[in-house]
Amino acid sequence: MKKRIAIAIALFLPLAATESPLFPRLTTEERQRIEAALPKELHAKPLQPRKLLVTTLCMRDGRVVRGHPSIPYAEYAIAQMGKRLGGWEVVSTDAIDVFRPERITEFDAICFNNTLGVLFDDPALRESLLGWIANGGGFIGFHAAAATFVQHPRYDQWPAFGQMLGGTENGGHPWKPNERTWVKVDDATSPLTKMFGGASFEVADEMYQLQEPTIRDRLRVLLSVDTDKSDMDPKRRFLKLRAADKDFPVSWIKTHGNGRVFYTTLGHNADIFWNPLLLDHFLAGIQYALGDLKADDTPSAKVAR
Ligand SMILES: [Zn+2]
Repeated sequence: MKKRIAIAIALFLPLAATESPLFPRLTTEERQRIEAALPKELHAKPLQPRKLLVTTLCMRDGRVVRGHPSIPYAEYAIAQMGKRLGGWEVVSTDAIDVFRPERITEFDAICFNNTLGVLFDDPALRESLLGWIANGGGFIGFHAAAATFVQHPRYDQWPAFGQMLGGTENGGHPWKPNERTWVKVDDATSPLTKMFGGASFEVADEMYQLQEPTIRDRLRVLLSVDTDKSDMDPKRRFLKLRAADKDFPVSWIKTHGNGRVFYTTLGHNADIFWNPLLLDHFLAGIQYALGDLKADDTPSAKVAR
């Protein structure tokens, strides 16, 4: 009996703050690789101590599933960046009760780290999440965050979530994770892109496209697929869906009421999270969402050229 109780307790012991129980622990070598790539300084001094909620919850057909293998690498990089540079403290949990109105106000921003599927359908929780952001909260989404609260093409969609985020992944990935794509800097004046020096760069990652017909009237696009340099073969799967504007944003910021949103399609592949330039970009994005880094988030289409 005693043994059974001990096992039960062990199962429910809280795991280390940045360890998702669904993934193997990162090796020492993997941790060191991420640590070596971390930015050396913040983009802005925090106005106050910041608390960042990171969730990695992935659901399919009402069941918790293991999502992108890059999840624990992102989780470690985000937590270490905050800890070492002093920008924020991470609270890492996949429990959905943190979205209740009485809990959510503990946080300065919420990060959906490659979340996927319908995380919850309780209208009160949904209202709490979007209401909290509109009230001045910050939201950060990596990669499959744009495929969260949508199980295309069959079931439930929650369009208000996609509107808050700025776009919804449409199920088609014109470029596969192992293919290299060119990414261009759309907003070279932004503090979120200064690490790229205005230059296009090549990256191997799974590139999304969005369902929504127009994009730039709502988003301040920071990075997008450089369609002059990337493989635009019309026979590529799903590419024709975006034939009209050939617009594939990779990172953006936007407001939601009084809140701030940073999203990037990057992060399918684990090595994205030990790329020094991209980590510095994510650092700036997180600090923007936390409210510490000021950036012009006027939608791209409304900026005079
Ligand atoms: Zn992916």
